Amino acid sequence: MTSWHIPDDLRGSYLEGTLEPALAMSVDAHLDRCAECRAAVPYDKDWLEASWARLETKLVTPRPGLSERFLWHVGVPDHLARLLSATPTMSRAWLAAVVAVLAFAVLAAREQAEFLPAFLIAAPVLPLAGIALAYGPRVDPVHELVAATPMSGPRLLLARATAVLTVSVVLAGIASPLLPAPPGMSAAWLLPALAAGAGCLALSNRLPVPIAALAVGGVWLAIVGAGRLFGDWPAVFGPAPQIGYAAAALLLIYRFHRLSTR
Ligand SMILES: [Zn+2]
Repeated sequence: MTSWHIPDDLRGSYLEGTLEPALAMSVDAHLDRCAECRAAVPYDKDWLEASWARLETKLVTPRPGLSERFLWHVGVPDHLARLLSATPTMSRAWLAAVVAVLAFAVLAAREQAEFLPAFLIAAPVLPLAGIALAYGPRVDPVHELVAATPMSGPRLLLARATAVLTVSVVLAGIASPLLPAPPGMSAAWLLPALAAGAGCLALSNRLPVPIAALAVGGVWLAIVGAGRLFGDWPAVFGPAPQIGYAAAALLLIYRFHRLSTR
């Protein structure tokens, strides 16, 4: 046992999740041996125990779950597949909620054509909700780091946000041919959804992730509201706004990439 302990500034960066993976791993290793330094890390006992129980089920259970096997089959590396399927948002409850919302929107639109925009408006919000839930107020980054992995903040966030976005986009893509809409219109949610996901990632450098997701969701609803005031649905979903969403998505992804590799 040495007399060295984790200095305050190092623990600070560790708690913020800004340490590089190698350094985060050595902090992990020290925390593992040193009760004194562990005591200096703030944590919520109940949350940690629940989290360990969940991780044990996901990580120790020898038989991989459905989502993990699927990710593995489409070529996602082992460790990443395991990490992603342990993500709270990849849980069955979240998937069921997304399917329910999409099914409801499709049924409503088939019943009455005026409800079609409900689907187009909801589809970009679903991935945001998923990203926000993965980083909800009770899911503190330090717990994730201590409990699961030396993977650092922005990379983990990107991996999870991409997974959430991919699942939402695939599910909404399966639902859109069922919509009573011209082909171009039934996919009109796709670019706004990508732009919203990218916007959430870019904002997460300045704001806590759930707040960033709420802010982006609010901006999207404001755009929809303004479009409704100043024109009709083409003002929100027509070709010109679509070019804008594509440009915004590219710009925001570039910005997140610059910030997270700085
Ligand atoms: Zn120590």
